[in-house]
Amino acid sequence: MKPVIAVVGRPNVGKSTLFNRMTKTRDAIVADFSGLTRDRHYGDGRLGDREFIVVDTGGFEPDSTTGIVKEMAKQTRQAVAEADAVVFVVDVRAGLSAQDHDISRYLRSVNKRVFLAVNKAEGMSESPLLGEFYELGMGEPHPISAAHGQGIRSLLDAVLADF
Ligand code: GDP
Ligand code: MG
Repeated sequence: MKPVIAVVGRPNVGKSTLFNRMTKTRDAIVADFSGLTRDRHYGDGRLGDREFIVVDTGGFEPDSTTGIVKEMAKQTRQAVAEADAVVFVVDVRAGLSAQDHDISRYLRSVNKRVFLAVNKAEGMSESPLLGEFYELGMGEPHPISAAHGQGIRSLLDAVLADF
């Protein structure tokens, strides 16, 4: 069985860009505006001879009864429930937000391996800016640049080491 890796995080941190990197496709809709990806989206990934499935989240159909925020939370919970491991994406340029803390609280409450990916960190692998992300209690932050393809291999090595 291929492990299923869910990519979660608040809007605009670069989840869909990371999904595209991990799957080497451009199938997910990458939006310059928050929350434009319409559907939860699955893709096949491979690192060497190891194969995995990636789930992008944050796409949603706005639902008039539950509202957008609840729908996004529901979709994240569903993706996490299905996943063998979770990549939690945050944005080093924006820094930590209340939403990041909410998501990390939720992720701590489920019994899944979580890997913290600090995105938009092109050229910052040694940056002191990475320090604040230890605060989330999600272990070692993995600096990545989804857009520039930096740190992805090392993140995937860590995630796939368990399988
Ligand atoms: P999502 O809402 O979390 O799926 O985020 P997207 O993947 O749609 O990306 C949101 C914005 O961040 C887009 O403008 C991307 O081009 C940009 N972005 C994504 N990854 C990186 C990165 O590694 N570095 C920089 N500087 N921008 C990025
Ligand atoms: Mg997206």
